[in-house]
Amino acid sequence: MKFQSTRSASPALGFRDAFASGLAPDGGLYVPESLPPMPDSLLNGSADSYPNLAFEFLRHFDTDHTADELKSLIDRSYQGTFDDSATAPLRQLADDLFVLELFHGPTLAFKDFGLQLVGNLFEDQIQRSGQAINVLGATSGDTGSAAIHGLAGKKGVNVFILYPKGRISPLQERQMTCTAADNIFPIPIEGSFDDAQLMVKELFGDLEFKAEVGLSAINSINLARVLAQAIYYFHAWAQLPAAARANDPTFVVPTGNFGNILAGWLAGKMGLPAKHYSIATNRNDILYRLFTSGSYQPGDVNASLAPSMDIQVASNFERFLFYHLKENGQQVSEIMQRIGDGEDLQIPDFDSDAFKATHSSDEDITSLIQQVYQDHNYIVDPHTACAFKDLDRSHTNIVLSTAHPAKFPDTIHDAIGQHPTHPSLEKLKQRSPVTYPQAAKASAIREFIRANRA
Ligand SMILES: *Cc1c(COP(=O)(O)O)cnc(C)c1O
Repeated sequence: MKFQSTRSASPALGFRDAFASGLAPDGGLYVPESLPPMPDSLLNGSADSYPNLAFEFLRHFDTDHTADELKSLIDRSYQGTFDDSATAPLRQLADDLFVLELFHGPTLAFKDFGLQLVGNLFEDQIQRSGQAINVLGATSGDTGSAAIHGLAGKKGVNVFILYPKGRISPLQERQMTCTAADNIFPIPIEGSFDDAQLMVKELFGDLEFKAEVGLSAINSINLARVLAQAIYYFHAWAQLPAAARANDPTFVVPTGNFGNILAGWLAGKMGLPAKHYSIATNRNDILYRLFTSGSYQPGDVNASLAPSMDIQVASNFERFLFYHLKENGQQVSEIMQRIGDGEDLQIPDFDSDAFKATHSSDEDITSLIQQVYQDHNYIVDPHTACAFKDLDRSHTNIVLSTAHPAKFPDTIHDAIGQHPTHPSLEKLKQRSPVTYPQAAKASAIREFIRANRA
């Protein structure tokens, strides 16, 4: 299988090369050249374990590794790293209401599904090329910690994660700073997430420096993350009782960068017979506005109780746009250019039936946590809570639970008067954090990486 750029002006690459380059040279994102129909075994549950199912899926896309190599990459990613034997267990709350728990990985959020695999793919790349890499990223929380846990202790790679000091949750900070791994460099900076992101962009734009240290990214646009995330939609389906399958199942997905829900929608194009995909946003509702009106209007980002969805530019949207525009890379390029210029945009022929959408205020989030607890005796985290807004109960709903509630104890306490806990978070409290504070200037970060590179 080859991977093509959404802007159609770069050559198609095999899996390993597309993975290693991240962004295509023409500025586009890689997508598979075709979306093959998945075999029945993926839908009827006969691919029993999560790793088996992952192999049945990924072997269509990663045709660079041998079957044994791919199996080994998958086993290292999903076996013994998740704390539930089903990896992504499906909980039933009512006849036609299910929650797919995606928070059983090392950092208790769904990003572990993508970044555990990405960590092992980086290791594989380093072993093949013999060249060390240095991973640089900025995080407002979950991505940085999932990347750190995907790469902690691996040889030939050092990880530099910038984050806004005092503006991420204390538990998220502990997940990044208490790893005890000497290849991990969490860097608090004065400023906002956007300031951190700008420095990262500047350093990636310094091509000489990028080549000098073998700089690599871990952002949500990497195609391996999207593919890894499609797997659990099939896994959910395999666990769904026949009666629930027959009642128009809809996946409801807490959404920020559009990565998670895009993975589900692509699974649909490969034969997953879900009726709908529903986008749940918080008060940063650019995607809600897009899918209810067809117009794409980035606004200011406002802090919310669901911080990992505090995003107003949904980077993976470009992949959806590519398919929506019938794979016309030229048109994608023009539209992305206009979005980059800050234009308010009406997307041509926008079929908003492809997705449903809701948005939740902070007040909604608190009352949804209360309501789900009262109705089902089940505690949802503030991101997952958004998925319960205006739920249409006339058909089967599968809510994707993106984080464990114990990651957001204060919000849960405000809603229901309880502090949820998790053993892995309790353990973190006994370790001392290690951080490497730097001045909020790209030049300072550049020097720090030079001095501490792999
Ligand atoms: C990252 C994240 C999201 C948003 O996912 P996208 O792929 O960016 O749409 C939702 N919930 C949690 C807990 C997250 O960490």
